Amino acid sequence: MRTLKSVKQRYLPSANVTKLMEDFRQMTNDCIRTGLEFEGRSDSGTKTPSMRRLSLLSYGQLKGYGGYSGYRLCAISKAAGILSSRRKSIRRGFQTRKPYVRKLMLTSCYGFRIENGRLFIHLDAKTFESVPLNSHSIKILSDKRLKVRSFTLTETSLSLCISKECADAKECADRITSTIGIDRNLRNLAVGNDERITYYDMSEIVKIAGNTRSILRSFRRTDVRLTSEIATKYGRRKRERVGQILHRVSKDVVASARANQQAIVFEEITGIRKLYRKGNGQARAYRSKMNSWPFHEIKRQIEYKAAWEGVPVITLSAKETKGTTMDCPRCGERLQVPVRGDNLHYRQLWCDACRRWWERDTCAVLNISRRGWVRFAHSKREEQGEASEAVKGNAEHEGEPLILRVDASKPGIRPNQTRT
Ligand SMILES: [Zn+2]
Repeated sequence: MRTLKSVKQRYLPSANVTKLMEDFRQMTNDCIRTGLEFEGRSDSGTKTPSMRRLSLLSYGQLKGYGGYSGYRLCAISKAAGILSSRRKSIRRGFQTRKPYVRKLMLTSCYGFRIENGRLFIHLDAKTFESVPLNSHSIKILSDKRLKVRSFTLTETSLSLCISKECADAKECADRITSTIGIDRNLRNLAVGNDERITYYDMSEIVKIAGNTRSILRSFRRTDVRLTSEIATKYGRRKRERVGQILHRVSKDVVASARANQQAIVFEEITGIRKLYRKGNGQARAYRSKMNSWPFHEIKRQIEYKAAWEGVPVITLSAKETKGTTMDCPRCGERLQVPVRGDNLHYRQLWCDACRRWWERDTCAVLNISRRGWVRFAHSKREEQGEASEAVKGNAEHEGEPLILRVDASKPGIRPNQTRT
């Protein structure tokens, strides 16, 4: 199995490389234009052209740019990617603008080599330009198992896509002895299982988002150019600060899962943003707070880092996720929310069957990790061919009525809705 990652460094392009990037940008925009024209044609059925069709349509035109031929293919592939993601947005009902590449960039998987700590790229068919790698990149690339797949240049950075062959999914799964659930809350990230739960304090993220908002609000000038420039600047600052925190946490989570031979379990939280949207009857500050948490970013980071380390990641389906926050991890009974004004039991839930209070976060983590384990063990059993026995076991109960739990979850309450 192959896993991908990238290594990035700062880099200031020379005049030659800037010219190259400008050409690449124009080639990509040419391709996009060709693709859009194809979509507009009556015989195409407003279909987005495939990569193959796009190459047939635009390769000849791109020849006019001269230069190294590999870049043409990469420009076509880049354009095809942009067009297909536009198509996806349209299908999902988002408004789209006519796509256009504004920033200078060059990405290619052809015609480059790394020698003596430098990256050599084609300027045109015969001449090369070399880019010095920094010590961090050289250190990472010194690992002989890694292969460099492609490079991407922008006006400020160079990023190399690297791949590693790692053990296949089955081998990774065989090593696993337990699962850890991850519960993403607004102010913390709870990770663990019955044995141990770690809480990562994430309140800093909420604070950073709030600060950024109040800084932006404090600028009273109504010049749109000025406002957007300031918003860009502080937006970047916020993203970088939050990114630091997320990377530190995700690295730690994956490292400990690997050390303890655990699989990581996520719950399905698609649509969480829909809960906090304009018109839902929530205050603006509240919505902004709830939407400031990068739920998906932390998942994305953990997933790719886990893949790199060979740690399996399980995402529960919506059905499996249901009730993770509201069911008792010990007896499965539905938990009750404390009465309004009960500050003693803040963020706690009451199980009437066990006669005890549960911490909201603990409860979710236990449920998630356990359900993940059920799924994991099930898929393992199936592999070993014990599935048939399980089916036999069910057959014995045939004819008996299905006993429904009286206090099954109330209809209309989504598990995530109760979460703060
Ligand atoms: Zn209970």
